[in-house]
Amino acid sequence: MAGTALPGRLIWQAATVSAVRAETPSARTIVLDIPDWPGHLPGQHLDLRLTAEDGYSAQRSYSIASDWPGAGPVEITVQRLEDGEVSPYLTDVVEPGDRIELRGPIGGWFVWRSAQPAPVLLVAGGSGVVPLMSMIRERGRLRARQPFRLIYSVRTPEDASFAGELRRRVRDDPGLDVHFVYTRKTPDGWPAPPKRIDVATLNSHGWPPDFAPDVFVCGPTSFVETAADILVALGHDPSKVRTERFGGG
Ligand SMILES: Cc1cc2nc3c(=O)[nH]c(=O)nc-3n(C[C@H](O)[C@H](O)[C@H](O)COP(=O)(O)OP(=O)(O)OC[C@H]3O[C@@H](n4cnc5c(N)ncnc54)[C@H](O)[C@@H]3O)c2cc1C
Repeated sequence: MAGTALPGRLIWQAATVSAVRAETPSARTIVLDIPDWPGHLPGQHLDLRLTAEDGYSAQRSYSIASDWPGAGPVEITVQRLEDGEVSPYLTDVVEPGDRIELRGPIGGWFVWRSAQPAPVLLVAGGSGVVPLMSMIRERGRLRARQPFRLIYSVRTPEDASFAGELRRRVRDDPGLDVHFVYTRKTPDGWPAPPKRIDVATLNSHGWPPDFAPDVFVCGPTSFVETAADILVALGHDPSKVRTERFGGG
């Protein structure tokens, strides 16, 4: 199966952008052909390095959105931060044929292994859905039986990446449930006003702690800390609550 992030493998290499795809008005998937990619586990990320003509370079981490069927391209999905240095370049400027330096895959803790029999709870804030999408795609590809629940917090319906694919997978992948939380604007007819993720959300749409689920929480730092604190207060084993912080407040 996929390789792991052995330090010896972490050499920079050039990848070629083979396609780009808008996910939302401010998020874009970049499809990368990477000649020497050892494979990855869902949840891992890669480091990407951009270098300007004057030699100035900036490096950022991006989670891998795609599963790994054993060959083929690797996808990342980038959310534009208006005042960001790197993300606007990736969402607005990069185009097919461009070359990008990267290294990976990286990370051995925030990964879902399909041999783990426990039910899975995924909790995403904004672009934190990306590594969780890789887990959902891998589960679908393997037709794995572990029940998955995704709680996905977005500002508005328009901000939800992968919305169409998630709808399709809820229909076609037995045992997958998705619940959206809208923090600023809900879809028409939504039964509740906008709100942030809270005890009631995680209580009603997560798994009971007695089920001993594997929990993956990902997003901006404050979102991750809030969600993880609630999960532990609800009785989830802290050692089963894995977190990935993307930065920000
Ligand atoms: C392991 C890992 C995986 C990641 N995976 C993804 C991914 O799949 N998709 C993705 O879009 N991003 C991901 N990120 C975040 C990414 O690495 C960058 O931090 C992000 O793209 C911002 O970079 P920037 O250069 O545009 O902004 P910067 O110029 O670095 O920052 C601009 C401003 O935005 C704030 N900021 C930085 N990051 C965030 C954030 N996540 N939320 C809110 N505010 C922030 C900064 O504090 C600063 O004020 C990941 C981060 C980590 C550590």
